[in-house]
Formats: sequence, C-alpha cells, structure tokens
Amino acid sequence: MCAMPSKVFFADLRANPKRSLNDKIDALIQALEPAGRLKPGGLTAIKIHFGEKGNTAFIRPVLARRFVDAVKALGCKPFLTDCNTLYVGTRSEAASHLITATENGFAYSVMGAPLIIADGLKGHSSTAVRVDLPECAEAHIGAEIVEADNLVSLAHFKGHELAGFGGTIKNLGMGAASRRGKLFMHSNVSPEIAASRCIACGECILRCPAAAIQLVKRGPEEKAPLGSKHAALKSSKDPQKCIGCGDCILVCPTGAIQIQWDMQIPEFLRRMVAYTKAVLKGKEERGLFFNFLTDISPACDCYPFQDAAMVPDLGVAASLDPVALDQASADLVNQAQGSAQSQLKHAHAPGQDKFRDIYPRVDWEIQLDYAQEIGLGQRAYELVRV
Ligand code: SF4
Ligand code: SF4
Repeated sequence: MCAMPSKVFFADLRANPKRSLNDKIDALIQALEPAGRLKPGGLTAIKIHFGEKGNTAFIRPVLARRFVDAVKALGCKPFLTDCNTLYVGTRSEAASHLITATENGFAYSVMGAPLIIADGLKGHSSTAVRVDLPECAEAHIGAEIVEADNLVSLAHFKGHELAGFGGTIKNLGMGAASRRGKLFMHSNVSPEIAASRCIACGECILRCPAAAIQLVKRGPEEKAPLGSKHAALKSSKDPQKCIGCGDCILVCPTGAIQIQWDMQIPEFLRRMVAYTKAVLKGKEERGLFFNFLTDISPACDCYPFQDAAMVPDLGVAASLDPVALDQASADLVNQAQGSAQSQLKHAHAPGQDKFRDIYPRVDWEIQLDYAQEIGLGQRAYELVRV
C-alpha cells in the first residue's frame, strides 16, 4: 500500500493590504505546527546562507526575522548559523563570515537573534556524527548545529552547478558540514600543492594537524616564484598522512594549495545526501524546513554575484519532509515560464526542465532518489496553498 504523500505548504507572492508576505510567512510557519515539533525552551539553530560578499540573492534578513520571532514566541532560543566555506573567500573563517553577514544585513538589530558560526573560528569545531552509510561511516558537521536542540532550515532555492538545484538537502548536507566534511564531498584526493606558487613560507607545515607537509628541494628545472623565502625549497605533501582537513588551503598566502574538484557528480550528490542524514540525526522530529523560491538564480550564493533569475519569483514553500519540499520546489520552478533574459537556452516553456537546460550533465534527481532511499523523506507530495 502506498504511503500518504507528504504535505508541502506553499505561499505565492500575491498580497494585499490585509495580507502581506510577512503574514503569509507566519501562516506557513504555523501550518507546520511548530509547537508540537520544537523542543520547549530548546536552543534552535536557524540554518541559513548569509550570502558571499557581492551576492544579493540570499534570503532577505527582514523575512528571516519572522522565523526568529516565531521561535521566540514558542519560548525557544533561536540563533542564526552557517558553517565556514571550503574555498578562500569572504566567509572562510568566522571573523570574516560574521562581518560579511552583518554587511549583508544580518545584524543583531535586524535579526533579534545572535549569529553563531557553527564550525568555529577556523572551521575546527567539527563533530563526527555516525551514519554508517556506504559513502561514509561518519560525517563531519559543524559542532554548534549538532549541539542545538532544534533545527529550522531556511534555504534559498536556486540552480546549482554540481547539484542541479540547491534547496533544503543542500542547505543542510553541504551547508552544515565543516571544512573537512566539505572537502570530503567535493574531492577524492587531498589538496595538491602547486610548486610554481609556493614561496616556502612554511605556514602550511605549522598548521597541518597530521604532519603531512614538509619542505623539500626543488628540481633543477623548477623556478621559485618571486618573494620565495627559500628559493631552493618548496612544500610537499604526503598523501598517505593527509587526513583531508583542508586547513592548509586556508593558510597558504599565495593560493598554492588547491582543492581538486574531482568528485564525480553522482557520488558528490550521494555524499551530500548522506551528510544531510547526519545533520538531521537526533533531530528527525525536531526540524522545520522552508524553501524561498525567490531570486532563482542559476548558481550558488557562494559566488560574489548572481546571474539573472531563470524564472520569476514564485513564493515560499514549507514542509516537515525535506525531500518532498525539494521535489515540490523543483517542480514549481520547472512549471514556471522561463525568462528570456536568463542563461536558459531552450527550456523556457512551462513544464520544461530548467535545471537540465543549464546543467545538462547533472542529474538532479539523484539527490531526491537517494534521500528517499535512505529514509530522509519521500518524493511524493501534496501541494497545499496557504
Ligand atoms: S588537508 Fe589537512 S591534513 Fe591534509 S595536508 Fe592539508 S592541513 Fe595537512
Ligand atoms: S603555505 Fe603555501 S606558500 Fe607557504 S609553504 Fe605552504 S604551500 Fe608553500
């Protein structure tokens, strides 16, 4: 016998003087009956992407504030959170991350809740969570998200160059992973060191927790770059010792240590879903999930810009089932009229697959199929308009 489809609540953007978008967001939150879901008085992680500096497609802070107020009204203690990035950018350690978040509008005076970077100052606050899945026995998750009693996921739904789309599964699986976890999802091998950019400063050697890096002599043909501390030396990594923490990437002043973005897409997606399972472990009944279908750009908010939206703003969706929520959101985007002003080439008509049009090599359904297979939720849904 088939299970009942999961309910996905959806608020479009029609409004009037008696019913604003804020009112509709409040109605969406209440539709999930949060009082029966969140642990009373619990520390509540509101997982959101604060946006890379230069990007403006992320969820507006004033709208995120509605969730803070709703959590407080239930007597819980909300904090806004995300983990540091793997790549070197404006959110790769907590000080820059918090400055970027504040500059993007997520100040305490706006949000009414503190911002806590879940994996700490330099990404070392990471908790290993057992999942015992074929992709990984354990996942490395931002410690403060693991510690929290409740989880509210606010995801900006958009296209994504490796996942096809990024919604709730990606907001949690990738977004809540520490640097070590992110490197595991993106790469089969540890970072490579480009000798042509290494100035032999030794910073990576001091930082490496596995003593995997040492200075070695350059070959006779290898030229040291300008500014080298020791022209005859370069750093070299022992892949057998490397534990894949990613710390050396962050400290290298010349960008000589490079992530090998070599993960095959199906495996990348399965690992991301396995990580989502880890993030929700222990909070399976204490999570609320929301997708904002606004500024539906083709790529991730980790870029310092966003390209034109693929389809018009559609609304906000909510569910207790993260899989049904992402499935419904992908369907809503694909059912919309595509924008002629966007990256879309062929799939402008309602019903055509916008994500595959832009990323033809990415099968975005893998993340939904695998999430259903490992019990994160189901793809079958009933759309309930509020
Ligand atoms: S990834 Fe971590 S363990 Fe590997 S070489 Fe870099 S610092 Fe060392
Ligand atoms: S931190 Fe970068 S430049 Fe310095 S020794 Fe390591 S690889 Fe070379």
